[in-house]
Amino acid sequence: MDKHIPERTCVVCREKKDKSELFRIAQVSENKYVFDKEQKMQARGLYVCKTHECIQRISKNRKYNLSMDDLMAMLSLLKKKSKDYLNILRAMKNSEHLTFGINMVMDEIEHIHFIIIAEDISEKNDKKLIARAKELGIAYVHYGNKHELGEIFNKDEVNVIAVKNKRIARGLID
Ligand SMILES: [Zn+2]
Repeated sequence: MDKHIPERTCVVCREKKDKSELFRIAQVSENKYVFDKEQKMQARGLYVCKTHECIQRISKNRKYNLSMDDLMAMLSLLKKKSKDYLNILRAMKNSEHLTFGINMVMDEIEHIHFIIIAEDISEKNDKKLIARAKELGIAYVHYGNKHELGEIFNKDEVNVIAVKNKRIARGLID
């Protein structure tokens, strides 16, 4: 009756969990880890919970130095359970792939692949953004409010966030 279930410890929160509840990251050099999706890489590995919280925390840790693509791959696997733009954006707020605020977004619109518009943006700005997005064929969504979007960047309010990286945009859109 005593079945052996392989358990591993999350390197972030130190909780012990079944391997299926964890992502594996494999060490490829002293200061570099990569996402080991199949959990089969022949390299020293560490585990991290399949939760927004633990992935967000590991994304900030330079010891692991995970690439934006790897983080995105992990986050998009989570997203299938619950689409949570706020958590995904939070995990990459320090990257050069995001821009925010109506003026910056309009200025850089030609480099933008996805737009997240606050649900309580002013009607004027909403129309302006949507007209431009439609004109250029950029996907957009209304999500969260100005306060929630602002909180990602430690601002009181942010009315729009845009993604400049194609792969990240694709991950958010699907
Ligand atoms: Zn954890």
